[in-house]
Amino acid sequence: SAVSKPQGKRVLLAEPRGYCAGVDRAVETVERALEKHGAPVYVRKEIVHNRHVVETLSERGAVFVEEVDEVPEGALVVFSAHGVSPAVHEAAGTRELRTIDATCPLVTKVHQEAKRFARDDFDILLIGHEGHEEVEGTAGEAPLHVQLVDGPDSVDKVKVRDESRVVWLSQTTLSVDETMETVERLRKRFPGLQDPPSDDICYATQNRQVAVKAMAPECDLVIVVGSRNSSNSLRLVEVALDAGARTSYLVDYAKEIDPAWLEGVETVGVTSGASVPEILVDGVLQFLSGEGFGTVQTVTTANETLVFALPRELRPSRRP
Ligand code: SF4
Repeated sequence: SAVSKPQGKRVLLAEPRGYCAGVDRAVETVERALEKHGAPVYVRKEIVHNRHVVETLSERGAVFVEEVDEVPEGALVVFSAHGVSPAVHEAAGTRELRTIDATCPLVTKVHQEAKRFARDDFDILLIGHEGHEEVEGTAGEAPLHVQLVDGPDSVDKVKVRDESRVVWLSQTTLSVDETMETVERLRKRFPGLQDPPSDDICYATQNRQVAVKAMAPECDLVIVVGSRNSSNSLRLVEVALDAGARTSYLVDYAKEIDPAWLEGVETVGVTSGASVPEILVDGVLQFLSGEGFGTVQTVTTANETLVFALPRELRPSRRP
């Protein structure tokens, strides 16, 4: 029949998306550790918050545990990109574990800030999500000085000892806009509130949000590839909706896309969180192409070139 299809179906593909320098390094750390030392290599917590990555590394011999007391004495354990508190390093030392720390250098930077402000006896207001591994690690650097502030609505319950010595720090993967709202509310209560010495929300989180904001107003639907426990991926869904996308969903795999989401849709935005391998985005693009969305336009808002060196233990030896 001559039923006309809606014209102009297209995909807008956000750039940058997917792997950041810290995730790339953390995943490679486990791969190299497996090559160098053989299986099993223990990993405390998910190396990065992505189901596919964790399943793939498990198949190759990585063993994911929640805490170091599950690791046999003397074995090798990798700490995840999200960072660990000093207590975890101590526990690993007690069990005489060999450790490789895959903490992202940008998380380590926030740890250093927490230590420094604690040394200067500041009250540290750490903006972040309760229970997230990164927040547990950062707070663990200065448990007596850090209070968690989980978004704007938590500001009212903050109590400080000395209003002239208060600083805010944050988790690296928050929504930039919501964090600014939290900071404004904190500053209303504590006008002397000091800012972090540099941005704690990392470049990758910021860049992925900026790219989504640029394309979302044109999108009927934004598909974010990422896992449910991935903070930065969840934020991309929120940012897409705030920026004007009609709907937005988070999926781990193309097969989770419900074709009903595409009814009446002309423009689909696609992006992925910082822990998401590109192969999963390819899967989504293939699926969309099969549904008539074969035209793909890239929306580029930044060009990322940052690369982090591997942990020292895994750098290639210089000897011939
Ligand atoms: Fe590092 Fe940012 Fe990537 Fe987290 S999202 S691993 S802080 S670069």
